[in-house]
Amino acid sequence: MTSGVVIVGAGVIGLATAYRLARDGLAVTVVDAERGATGASVHNAGWIVPIMSTPVPAPGMLGQALRWMTRKDSPLYVRPSPRPDHVRFMLSMLRHCNPRDFHHGVEALVTVNERTVSLFDEYEKDGVRFEYHRTGQLMAFHTREVMRRYQTEAASLERIGHSAAPLTGDELRDLEPALGKQVQGGLHCPQERHVDPASLLRGLTDRCRELGVRFLYDRPVTGIRSRGQVVTSVLAGGDEISGDVFVLAAGVHTGPLSRQAGFALPIQPGKGYGFDDASGSLTLRHSVYLGEAKVAVTPLSDRLRFAGTMEFGSSDSGIDPHRLRGIVRSAREFLPGFAPASRPRGWTGLRPMTPDGLPVVGPLPGKDNLLVASGHCMLGVTLAPMTAELVSGYVAGGQEASGNAFTPKRFAARRGHTVS
Ligand SMILES: Cc1cc2nc3c(=O)[nH]c(=O)nc-3n(C[C@H](O)[C@H](O)[C@H](O)COP(=O)(O)OP(=O)(O)OC[C@H]3O[C@@H](n4cnc5c(N)ncnc54)[C@H](O)[C@@H]3O)c2cc1C
Repeated sequence: MTSGVVIVGAGVIGLATAYRLARDGLAVTVVDAERGATGASVHNAGWIVPIMSTPVPAPGMLGQALRWMTRKDSPLYVRPSPRPDHVRFMLSMLRHCNPRDFHHGVEALVTVNERTVSLFDEYEKDGVRFEYHRTGQLMAFHTREVMRRYQTEAASLERIGHSAAPLTGDELRDLEPALGKQVQGGLHCPQERHVDPASLLRGLTDRCRELGVRFLYDRPVTGIRSRGQVVTSVLAGGDEISGDVFVLAAGVHTGPLSRQAGFALPIQPGKGYGFDDASGSLTLRHSVYLGEAKVAVTPLSDRLRFAGTMEFGSSDSGIDPHRLRGIVRSAREFLPGFAPASRPRGWTGLRPMTPDGLPVVGPLPGKDNLLVASGHCMLGVTLAPMTAELVSGYVAGGQEASGNAFTPKRFAARRGHTVS
C-alpha cells in the first residue's frame, strides 16, 4: 500500500488513472507539461469501440502501406525518415504483421475490453460529467469484400457481448439516410458508444479535484531521480516532486521519459488528422465508420467530428493539407450531402504507437515503483478506464499479474536485456 502517487501526463490515460487511484483512497498528484492535454486526448474521434479490438500491425498491412505510399492523401502513410528509432520501429512493426501476432493481439484486446462499456457507465453514475452517447456505431463499406473482413474480425467480440450485424446498403440508409448510394453494405454495432473527448477530460479533471487530486500544470518532467531500483522523485519545471509510486502516462513522450529511467520503450507517434463541422449540412445519429477510407465520423451535440489518417515518421502538430483534403474527399464520397460552410480548419493528434499495436501497462523493468500506462495506439479513449483498473491492481498488490500481455517487459527479451 502506498500514500503518494505521482502521475506524469494529464491526457485521458493519466486522468482515468488518477481518478481510479483517488477512488482507492490514495493521495494523487498529476503533473503535466501543458495546462492539461492538448494533443491526442482532445483531438480524437471519441469512440468507445471494443468492436475494433484489433492491433494496427496486421497481415497485409505492408502491401497496403506500399500501395498507399504514392498517394499523398491516403489513410496510411509512412514518411521516409532516416532516424534510427523510426527505422527500428517500422521494421519491428513489420515483423508483427503476421497472423499469429495479430490473433494474439486481438485476444489480449478483446479480453481487456470486456468491462470497458460498464466502466464508462460507472463514470456517469459516480458523477463524472461528460457528453456520452449510447446510439451505437455503423460501419459503411463500398465493397462487400472489405465489409466481410471487418465482419470476421468483429466475430471474436461476441463472447464479450459486442455484436456487428450485417446490413445491406438500403438497410444502412434506413438507419442513416445521409449515406450515399455507393455504400453497398455495412455492420450495425449497437453496443458501441462515443463521447466528446474534451468533455471527458473536463469531467474527469473536475471529479479528480473533488476527490482531492492535486494538479501541477505547465511543468514538463525533465528528469527522473532514483536510488537503485527505487524512483524517489521527478524533476518538473524547477520543482522536485516526490512520491512512493510513479506512473508514466505521457503519451508519445513516454518513450524518452522511460529512457531516462533506464529502459527505453519503443513508443512512436502515429499522427492523425481531423476537423469539426458545425455547418449542419448533415445530421447523423450513430457514429459512422467510412470503411475503405478509414475515416471516423462522430455526431456530437453541436457539431460533426471527422477523424482519420495514420502517418508514421512525423512528430509535430503541423497540418499537411493533402491529408486533410483526403478526409474531406472521403466524407463526400460516403456522405454526398456533406457541404461544409467553409474550408475545414484541421487539427492533429499524435497517437502513442507500439510496434506490436498493444498498450504498455505495468512496471518498467529495473524500477520497483515506476509504472507505465501508455502506447494505446488507436484505442486510448476506449482503454482508459480498464488501464486505470490494471494500474490500480499493481499499486495495491505491488506485483505484476502473470500473463500480462501489455507488460513493458515484452520489449526486453528482443533487445537482450535481462529482466528479473
Ligand atoms: C485522429 C485520432 C482519432 C482517434 N480516435 C480514437 C477513438 O475514437 N477512440 C479511441 O479509443 N482512441 C482514439 N484515438 C487514440 C487516442 O486519442 C489516444 O490513444 C489517447 O488519446 C492517448 O492518450 P494519452 O493520455 O496516452 O496521451 P496524450 O493524450 O498524448 O496525453 C499525454 C499527456 O502527457 C503530457 N506530457 C507529455 N510529456 C510530458 C512531460 N515530459 N512532462 C509532463 N507531462 C508531459 C502531455 O502534455 C499530455 O497532456 C485517436 C487518436 C487520434 C490522433
